[in-house]
Amino acid sequence: MKDRRTPSEPEALWKEDDMAGGQKVRAMVVILRTNGCCWVRHGGCTMCGYREASLNNVTEKDLESQLETALSRYSGEPFVKIYTSGSFLDDNEIPAPFRKKVYETFSGCSRLLFESRPEFITEETVKELPPNVTVALGLESSDPEVLEKSVHKGFAPEDIRRAGTLLKSHNIGVRTYLLLKPPFLTESAAIEDAVSSALFADGFSDEISVNPLNVQHGTMVERLWKKGEFRPPWIWSLFEVFRRLSGKVSARVISSPSGGGSQRGVHNCGQCDRSALDAIERFNFSQDISDLNVSCGCAEKWKLCMESGKILGTPADVERDFGNELMLKVI
Ligand code: SF4
Ligand SMILES: [Zn+2]
Repeated sequence: MKDRRTPSEPEALWKEDDMAGGQKVRAMVVILRTNGCCWVRHGGCTMCGYREASLNNVTEKDLESQLETALSRYSGEPFVKIYTSGSFLDDNEIPAPFRKKVYETFSGCSRLLFESRPEFITEETVKELPPNVTVALGLESSDPEVLEKSVHKGFAPEDIRRAGTLLKSHNIGVRTYLLLKPPFLTESAAIEDAVSSALFADGFSDEISVNPLNVQHGTMVERLWKKGEFRPPWIWSLFEVFRRLSGKVSARVISSPSGGGSQRGVHNCGQCDRSALDAIERFNFSQDISDLNVSCGCAEKWKLCMESGKILGTPADVERDFGNELMLKVI
């Protein structure tokens, strides 16, 4: 099929709420079309479908017209997030003069956020950053084995710690992303992994964003999911991570689940998903775990699935595969 996407238009643009300067503000989110993440050439990460958002013929001029389109829809939001399909600080993806242009264009904003892999976070790139910048780091997990075998990230947790510490030493904001339920981890192991990863990230992060795995097209995780060998995490598991971290970290802990409530995204029984996701939205701003007081009968099923998943050692959809009665027999 012919790709109708033009390199001179951004992949997506929308507005949402977020925090800047300790206040809830409007944010403009722009997804730029770029030539994609350098790591994709090495196979990419097991859950990442960003290659679908990348093209291979994007020039600096194209990026400039994408920026112009974004500016035509910009209404002075204090927070601007510029996502690429990889690393904003990679010269091969975003040429240095274009980066400078973005810094100048949004120099009046309270916050300008973008993502980068740690290998592009060097003394040289960091010293060029204006003070309103927050760099998002995709740590995913602080367990080296999970990062290597399950996520196939291509760097070690210590690389992220080095990058985060360097950014903080220059007073640059850091938002660290964690992946809730990387493939091959059971539901309970995924909760433990997210909690210990957040404790690791707290030393160099202003914010820790817990991203529940969302099954994206064309990924290795999608193949597992289609065979019934992977169930995206329950929303209850995300609640559990928030509860366990409460009072234990100084960073703000947040989550903006993509695909929440769908079979591909973080979900509960279907009945309580909307109210549980709304509770997360409230918690993002309040940081008050009493905002997570949602109840539904499926919380018992979640516990059952966790117990049987732990005994069987599987991240699969045990509820779908075995049903309630068998799960009870297993535990
Ligand atoms: S998750 Fe990030 S680092 Fe991994 S392939 Fe995707 S864009 Fe690249
Ligand atoms: Zn429910």
